[in-house]
Amino acid sequence: MSDLNALYTPLEKIPQVHEGLKKAFRSGKTRPIAFRKTQLLKLCHLVQDNLQRFKDALLADLGRPANETDFLELNGVLIEVKKAYDNVEKWASTEKPPFSLFWFSMSPHIRKEPKGVVLLISPFNYPVYLLLCPLAAAIAAGNAVLLKPSELCTTVAALLTELLPKYLDTEVYEIVNGGVEETTKILELPFNHILYTGNGNVGRIVATAAAKHLTPVTLELGGKSPCVIDPDCDVKVAAKRIMWGRLVNSGQLCISPDYVLVPKDFQDTFVEALKQAYEELHPTDPLKSGMLSRIVNERHVLRLKRLLDNTKGTVVFGNKVELSEREIFGPILPVVPVKDVDAAIEFINERDNPLVLYVFTRNRDFKKKVLNNTLSGTASINEVIMGCQAEGLPFGGVGASGYGYTTGQAAFNTFTHMRSTVENPTWADSLLLHARYTPYKSAPLRR
Ligand code: NAD
Repeated sequence: MSDLNALYTPLEKIPQVHEGLKKAFRSGKTRPIAFRKTQLLKLCHLVQDNLQRFKDALLADLGRPANETDFLELNGVLIEVKKAYDNVEKWASTEKPPFSLFWFSMSPHIRKEPKGVVLLISPFNYPVYLLLCPLAAAIAAGNAVLLKPSELCTTVAALLTELLPKYLDTEVYEIVNGGVEETTKILELPFNHILYTGNGNVGRIVATAAAKHLTPVTLELGGKSPCVIDPDCDVKVAAKRIMWGRLVNSGQLCISPDYVLVPKDFQDTFVEALKQAYEELHPTDPLKSGMLSRIVNERHVLRLKRLLDNTKGTVVFGNKVELSEREIFGPILPVVPVKDVDAAIEFINERDNPLVLYVFTRNRDFKKKVLNNTLSGTASINEVIMGCQAEGLPFGGVGASGYGYTTGQAAFNTFTHMRSTVENPTWADSLLLHARYTPYKSAPLRR
């Protein structure tokens, strides 16, 4: 791991960085589509030229297997950057509302304006994807950007700090490194939009600080994503997908399946299938095989150990488990027996809105019932994790899992102000003369 302390931005420099970004944004340099496209192309090269360095950095910080970094982190970044590059003209073009006989003479339009200086604060678990994807959207929308990487992934933060100025325009995209003290200092400044990805406690701190400046905020928060199991499902595939989803990045993924709700009389069958899935996925000791990421730091390991030590649950394999109110964010999968689908729905609705709801069934009515009676950020049927990057689908939480959207055009819109304009010709006065201006033709009725 790198010594990030050496990289921490001095506190007194933070307002200067912000001031510099503000000035550069006001100069107008981020606005031309050609500039945005050049920067997006360079962002693509930043990742493409340094794939191995990113994989090495994620191995150093999280012990993550290179395949997983390729599949779920770097590919995702390249797809989002390319999407922004390919669509920026279309997304940024001025739109006309549907034709209206009453309003057409005023030539109503919607201009897509960059909001200004945008702040991106990202977490440790996907430290490249969760910083560079929103960066791509913010660049496409024509903003200046201050990036605050997670201080927990020191090698990745150091690498991004080295590469960003080599590839991107240093006047309008800047990194500030640091921990709580530095982020608190950043949050004192007036931004035009803040995107925070991380846990809900800090989300509240960010939203409170932003409120002082009336800064709009997007919060991508904790997952707590349940799986609802119908006995009428492909149990082998369901168990394998869920087990994979729980173990990928060692469960440190916001959309990780967090716990499983299974009918009591199907529990043994399902747990057996989970055991088999685990053996298939990890035929050799995952502590030695290099197929399982590490928990990011000792504090998080101790947090997970406490969960296991204090459980009232039953040992199945691995260790004991307790279903904590908060998201687990580690390789622990509680299986909770419920009476039936109604009980599963009630269990979910008594808790915070999940980021994703996973349903495993072959039955359309079962699927409909769960979806129609719950609310989550997104939902996947017979799948975990994969669908969240699907082209054209906005990604975002609801309630305690956050608000706002962070992928594709929805992310572009997050960093864009829809500025409505009208332009009324002078001849239009003749149409409304007596309705609009005094003296009115007929006096108003008085009581
Ligand atoms: P983290 O500890 O890396 O913190 C995230 C960011 O918050 C960092 O940049 C950190 O410097 C900053 N921060 C920490 N404490 C702060 C404070 N007191 N004041 C100001 N800033 C502070 O990561 P984390 O929060 O543990 O991340 C994991 C959480 O993120 C999980 O709950 C996970 O579900 C969630 N997450 C959500 C999404 C999503 O898209 N919804 C994606 C990934 C992770």
